[in-house]
Amino acid sequence: MKIGENATWMARDLNVVWHPCTQMKDHEGLPVIPIRRGQGIWLEDFEGNRYLDAISSWWVNLFGHANPRISNALKAQLDELEHVLLAGFSHAPAIELAEQLTRLAPPGLTRCFYADNGSSAVEVALKMSFHFWRNQGQVQKTRFVTLSNSYHGETLGALAVGDVELYKTTYKPLLMAAMVVASPDCYARAPDVSCAQHSALMFEQMAQTLAEHHREICAVIVEPLVQCAGGMRMYDPAYLTLLRDACNRYGVHLIADEIAVGFGRTGTLFACEQAQITPDFLCLSKGLTGGYLTLSAVLTTPTVYDAFYADYAAQRAFLHSHSYTGNPLACRAALASLAIFDSDDTLEKNKVLSAHLARALAPLQENPYVSEVRQIGMIAAIELVQTRVPRTPFPKQQRRGLQVYQFALQHGVLLRPLGDVIYFMPPYVITPKEIDFMVEIALRGIEHATNS
Ligand code: PMP
Repeated sequence: MKIGENATWMARDLNVVWHPCTQMKDHEGLPVIPIRRGQGIWLEDFEGNRYLDAISSWWVNLFGHANPRISNALKAQLDELEHVLLAGFSHAPAIELAEQLTRLAPPGLTRCFYADNGSSAVEVALKMSFHFWRNQGQVQKTRFVTLSNSYHGETLGALAVGDVELYKTTYKPLLMAAMVVASPDCYARAPDVSCAQHSALMFEQMAQTLAEHHREICAVIVEPLVQCAGGMRMYDPAYLTLLRDACNRYGVHLIADEIAVGFGRTGTLFACEQAQITPDFLCLSKGLTGGYLTLSAVLTTPTVYDAFYADYAAQRAFLHSHSYTGNPLACRAALASLAIFDSDDTLEKNKVLSAHLARALAPLQENPYVSEVRQIGMIAAIELVQTRVPRTPFPKQQRRGLQVYQFALQHGVLLRPLGDVIYFMPPYVITPKEIDFMVEIALRGIEHATNS
């Protein structure tokens, strides 16, 4: 480790790499942090500075970086089989993982279709739903319904069913038109209305849309319980229960995009469990491999599967393929990650961590620049505002969240606020003491960013 090594890597990086979700000119002032190694919740740069990964590297990491159990499983798999196509061929990790996922998922999801990243899983679910109805002779069904402020990925189909302006506006001319229904987001509730009441009230608009347009609608797509990229906005399970019921009544599919909230983030293994519903399609990715490799899965029902099952000549097959579909290494990492849930009683342990996080965040409720502290399981968010009453956001161009990001980085914590929403989604191996440190730095960062 040499002083100046970070700068060398940074210069080489900026010479050739185009980073995702970034205005590259920002890096004239903001450093790119080159990471040499990761261990548990910590990332370390080339000069030995450490950063607590409070956002699990874009919500993928569950059991820490370089987790010995996942790494060892991968090393063994590497010597057996690194990859084989999944068309006409199969392998133990893909079969075992499909068995496990269909066992763990809400009842009735008995079939697992693999892809290789979150957005592709959403594309698969949209295409499968549309194609299902076509195979049933319902060719008039071509539309999708989504919630305002939702995010489902950035390939064109996934972007079309999202509603976060930042990502979508530029590409609108390229996108199919989705029907957007107001989100049940509890941040918007009136002061004397509970989250459950608000979410139920907001269902009215969805009910009306389905009543009027169900004949042309293939599916409703939602992020169950938390609209993550939309600012960690949360809503009540009651909405999902009502939605499942309405979709059943109107003959419309329900797509649950649990790419971000799956694998214990909301307290249960899958968020849908809290509403006791089974979607027609369950999209999984991110935490699926414990944050090691890129993989996604769409779980679905026998009814959907059977609608594609026919003689070849009937031309009903689902012909969607990605080269790395169901990659053996990725599936092996996923199996190792699921084994940790079992052996370590992760969901129970997370209850303790999540309660600790809530206690650590409690003082922020009184902060004059914080309009809401919200939390579900291992996701917590703090919404910064210029004034609490009336609730006035800071002007966007002031980039207060970015100031928190910079402050926290200088003090050893990787936060990556969504606008002015500071949030925590740490790996499950974080300790209570590390939670205290993470929150303390965020608190100081918020003070720093709001004191002028
Ligand atoms: N859906 C949701 C709910 C997500 O949060 C994301 C990623 N942030 C995606 C889909 C897209 O996943 P990927 O980035 O792997 O394409």
